[in-house]
Amino acid sequence: MRLKTIRLSGFKSFVDPTTIPITGNLIGIVGPNGCGKSNIIDAVRWVMGEMSAKHLRGDSMADVIFNGSNARKPVGKAMVELVFDNSDGSAGGQYAQYTEIAIKREAGRDGQSDYFLNKTRCRRKDITDLFLGTGLGPRAYSIIEQGMVTRIIEAKPEDLRGFIEEAAGISRYKERRRETENR
Ligand code: ATP
Ligand code: MG
Repeated sequence: MRLKTIRLSGFKSFVDPTTIPITGNLIGIVGPNGCGKSNIIDAVRWVMGEMSAKHLRGDSMADVIFNGSNARKPVGKAMVELVFDNSDGSAGGQYAQYTEIAIKREAGRDGQSDYFLNKTRCRRKDITDLFLGTGLGPRAYSIIEQGMVTRIIEAKPEDLRGFIEEAAGISRYKERRRETENR
């Protein structure tokens, strides 16, 4: 699975519908302080199911919705969509058949979020399950933020094991086992 496109609308500073094509294996996003570079990473975390406002650099979940500027009124809804190329079929199970996989999250100011997988409404869990064991996810290691390298180096053995299990693709099976045992 390879990220192809990021679409945002009403998310933080991206009030107008914006499409960001990810055209190569290495791209850089540059711009002056405060122009919205980190907001793009927040959007990627948010659509994958992040539920902590703090991890999205806000005080409340409504802080991800465009809250107005000198020239623009606030809006009532935020939307982020990620489109993945899955032509190699690397998304497992029932998703292997799709050459493209799109995940979307929408939220209004009431705090309610709706999730979609290939345009069909789904649960948050369907999205987190899709990425479990791939290294991609709201908290997974594919997003290396400031301070994370130090956190990995200084991690306690059990936390370090968590990173290794995610990299090895084991966490998916551990989670399923945990769910089965809890039934
Ligand atoms: P730096 O180079 O300093 O890291 P950056 O490009 O990463 O900057 P961001 O942190 O992505 O910048 O963007 C910050 C900007 O986003 C601020 O101007 C802030 O006002 C704006 N912003 C954040 N949340 C919202 C919101 N809910 N509505 C409108 N604007 C917002
Ligand atoms: Mg930044």
